[in-house]
Amino acid sequence: MSRDRMEIKMISAFLIKYSEIGIKGKNRYIFEDALVRRIKEKLEYCDGEFEVSKENGRVYIEAKSDFDYDEVVEELQKCFGIAHICPVVLVENKDFDNVLKELIDHMKAEFGDSAFTFKVFAKRSDKSYALKSPDICMKAGEVILKNLPNSKVDVKKPEVSVNIEIRQKAYVYVKSFKGPGGMPVGTSGKAMLLLSGGIDSPVAGYMMAKRGVKIEAVYFHAPPYTSERAKQKVVDLARIISDYTGEINLHVVNFTDIQMAIYDRCPHDELTIIMRRYMMKIAEDIARKTDCMSLITGESVGQVASQTMQSLVATNAVCTMPVFRPVIAFDKQDIIDISEKINTFETSILPYEDCCTTFVAKHPVTKPEVSQIERSERKLEDIIDDMLATAIDSREIINVKK
Ligand code: ATP
Ligand code: MG
Repeated sequence: MSRDRMEIKMISAFLIKYSEIGIKGKNRYIFEDALVRRIKEKLEYCDGEFEVSKENGRVYIEAKSDFDYDEVVEELQKCFGIAHICPVVLVENKDFDNVLKELIDHMKAEFGDSAFTFKVFAKRSDKSYALKSPDICMKAGEVILKNLPNSKVDVKKPEVSVNIEIRQKAYVYVKSFKGPGGMPVGTSGKAMLLLSGGIDSPVAGYMMAKRGVKIEAVYFHAPPYTSERAKQKVVDLARIISDYTGEINLHVVNFTDIQMAIYDRCPHDELTIIMRRYMMKIAEDIARKTDCMSLITGESVGQVASQTMQSLVATNAVCTMPVFRPVIAFDKQDIIDISEKINTFETSILPYEDCCTTFVAKHPVTKPEVSQIERSERKLEDIIDDMLATAIDSREIINVKK
């Protein structure tokens, strides 16, 4: 049997360590329960049966059938709230000689002949166990040194932490994968993401979800000026980020009539800013209908004419909910780096038209005055309320998940 196969065969559980949610005091159980739910959702995408439980500030996943080790680790690395994923050898017979035997087998499979330094850590929640923690550490250390001749003890800065936990069963682990960090989705309320087909807004949604915010999304299209393929691209982007955010309800709003009306009646250099203001209004209305408490956009200050400080102020002026702009101070390249990491980049750069670009003026205002924009919008007074209501009522809602 190859080293990898041997090692994987022995792993039958995972210990999940979390960081920030450990410090939430009295409310900790809310975060832990949410994390357990999110982990269960992730495991539904994996082959095999699993049991997820929480115990003393930790979450354990126990496999109840065969499973694909790499697949489980990969899924868990997209589950916010997880700091570390430790593959565990579960030892049913916790007689200490047997624990040591399993530990050595596991370490041989994991490290072979390579040289490494280590330190043993022991935890004993079964207080009736014959050995105390310091004895467990000492004895295990001796046996490791004897059986893995290229190993060395380093108590200050060990390369490998060898962990032995004696609970109802014994748990042995020597390795840990970094999790994505953040907070479990759903523990920080729900927000409405304005999701376009660009690079920035999917990243903005991902970043807020990482802080535990549940995401609902709205997309404005303008058929026939924007195509079905442009809409499909946004659905695809929502699906890619849903791997991190969990399922997303995507509200697709037909913006054509409103856009045409603005085009007919308002100064063309103000088109974009006026359009953006109506988008925010509609987004906020749908947000309220869907229990969202805030809005999220992918705006970044100075990026384009509609994102100068003055433009942001003019857009923001129509909102009563807080608007979160997690990439506001990011350079484009920094946003691209994240989009590549979360796999949205390739889809975002597909060259389909966006409703904002279809009707864009040659020389848009870069320093709009709110009072001037409001004056222009008055030209829509007699029709706009009905148009907004129609756009909202006729929206299509697509439930997007992996
Ligand atoms: P992105 O890469 O997110 O499209 P962008 O640089 O193209 O950003 P703009 O087109 O000015 O920027 O849009 C700014 C923000 O407004 C977007 O990040 C998004 O949140 C929102 N937005 C723009 N167009 C749409 C749309 N058609 N539907 C929904 N939201 C939109
Ligand atoms: Mg865009």
